[in-house]
Amino acid sequence: MRIALIAHDRMKDELVNFVDEHKHIFAGHRLVATGTTGTRIMERTGLKVHRLMSGPMGGDQQMGSLVAKKRLDLVIFLRDPLTPQPHEPDISALLRICDVHNVPAATNLATAAIFLEYLKSRTKE
Ligand code: PGA
Repeated sequence: MRIALIAHDRMKDELVNFVDEHKHIFAGHRLVATGTTGTRIMERTGLKVHRLMSGPMGGDQQMGSLVAKKRLDLVIFLRDPLTPQPHEPDISALLRICDVHNVPAATNLATAAIFLEYLKSRTKE
């Protein structure tokens, strides 16, 4: 599957730890991430990640474009619910386009963990 990974700054540790913990599952899928998130994941896990621009610089919009073009199957987007972001309109737009195209989007780790169970069933051994 083609999986999008995005985390706001205060959420990056959580996402990087999550991917690292389940590296063997993510390794069986194609990963796309916004710039800094992708770098952090690659550095920690050694997984191959296709990186877009950083979120505030247009990465969320690039991700939205991939969703609209049906090039992503699943989105894990750990947004920071407690800190205002300069690119708030882009964040809303990305989640909106996921809903438009019926692409599953997890915005917290509990939902991401449920996605993981699904991924396990789709991971090539
Ligand atoms: P980043 O972008 O991975 O480049 O930090 C994520 C975001 O802040 O939207």
